[in-house]
Amino acid sequence: MKMLINGKLIDKDEKIAVLNPFNNEIVDHVPQGNREDVKNAINAANKAKKSMQAMSSRKVSRILYDIHQELKEKSKEISKLICLETGKPIRDSKIEMDRSLQTLLMAAEEAKRIYGETVPMDAAIAGKNVFGFTMKIPLGVVAAITPFNYPVNLAMHKLAPALAAKNTVVLKPSSKAPLASLKMAEILAKHLPDGAVNSVTGGGEILGDAMVTSPLVNKISFTGSIPTGVSIAQKAGMKKLTMELGGNDPMIVMDDANIDVAVTAAVSGAYLNAGQVCMGVKRIILHEKIADQFTDQFVSSTRKLKMGDPMDPDTDIGPLIDEEAAIHVERVVDDAVGNGAQLLCGGRRKGAFYEATVLDNVHEEMELVKKETFGPLSPIIRVKNLNEAIRVANNTQYGLQAGVFTQSIENAKIAVNQIEAGSVLINKQPTFRTDNMLFGGFKMSGMGKEGVKYAVEDMTRSKMVIIG
Ligand code: NAP
Repeated sequence: MKMLINGKLIDKDEKIAVLNPFNNEIVDHVPQGNREDVKNAINAANKAKKSMQAMSSRKVSRILYDIHQELKEKSKEISKLICLETGKPIRDSKIEMDRSLQTLLMAAEEAKRIYGETVPMDAAIAGKNVFGFTMKIPLGVVAAITPFNYPVNLAMHKLAPALAAKNTVVLKPSSKAPLASLKMAEILAKHLPDGAVNSVTGGGEILGDAMVTSPLVNKISFTGSIPTGVSIAQKAGMKKLTMELGGNDPMIVMDDANIDVAVTAAVSGAYLNAGQVCMGVKRIILHEKIADQFTDQFVSSTRKLKMGDPMDPDTDIGPLIDEEAAIHVERVVDDAVGNGAQLLCGGRRKGAFYEATVLDNVHEEMELVKKETFGPLSPIIRVKNLNEAIRVANNTQYGLQAGVFTQSIENAKIAVNQIEAGSVLINKQPTFRTDNMLFGGFKMSGMGKEGVKYAVEDMTRSKMVIIG
């Protein structure tokens, strides 16, 4: 596939091979872009601002509906690309594509709902006989930098709200899985003025740096790891930032919880996309009274998961994004076991595959618990009461989402008030998101919010208008 700059597909002699992590076969190549390409893309986006801003909201909305129609027709082809380039099971790749379409549709609706507000000027001493109101206006050029794990929907969460608010965009997808999002961006661009949607491919350090430091970029919308996010924030200067970063989400199960429901939730939350989900269940915190029962059922359900070819519709767990990622997971598990954790199931690697793994007797100082590990791992921590569970849940630099299973409204209220996370879910695993809900972490997990309505809001700035 090619880059897209100012409405034209751009290739390069130097290319990056995109590999299928299941069999290491080359799925396709993308150009190895450079700083000059980024500059051209940003200049094109800057030039296209005028045409985007001249469009009526009604027209922008209608175009987004048209794009939705075309994208829907290509949805099977793009789902297959997601599966091939990431190793995500085809069943889940299709769900990602359905969600991306829904995200786009929500943005088409939201494009017609960008309201300012009236300010009661005469509430202040100088405001008598003065009218005042705010207008929400576009920011200009948005740089969107995205990770490998949900390549289409996470890019859609940036591009669709940016366009709904009449901005122009430059997308830089992950070099590990750029294909499906490039295809999506091409379809978006076809319906809009040249330069309104651009995409560049190449290593994040060089391309990302060129995007982040450009004076023509008004906003950076980044989803990815904490170290990359921090480095972007340090270079960004006065640009508006949205940072959707890593998570280490806890799932607490209290002694009054419905254990069957909690086990099913934990299995789906811990192993979705082989654990490569920012809001995956990454720490399971169990009340000691139900810990044995939960663990027995959880291990038995974990053992039933089918690992294999991601294109097989029955596959639950595919490979990790590459062998290096699986080797990292292997090292983290070996380190935990070496330090006293008990391996209850899984624990073996084959190439880029890593088995769904449950570990008991885990301590808070282990890397497995302290840091986000992007793999199908379930560390179990046993606690005596809710206070201890919340202390453990909060004992981390992360704060994306948190799940609490309890039948007690009092427990739920305490958890909602005391857990430091962007979302607290009661009787639902933290690996849950609808594309319209407010989403974004506390602490090092991020700043700014997504979720279509909130993202559209964040893609605008407010201008005060006063009529004397
Ligand atoms: P990553 O390594 O941080 O990469 C993310 C993107 O940043 C890629 O496009 C990468 O490009 C680019 N990049 C790398 N270095 C850069 C730099 N110095 N300046 C600008 N851009 C740079 O993350 P990942 O491994 O792809 O994704 C996994 C991480 O994303 C996990 O931590 C996960 O929790 C997080 N995540 C968060 C959310 C959320 O909504 N909170 C959602 C999904 C994932 P190249 O890879 O091409 O070099």
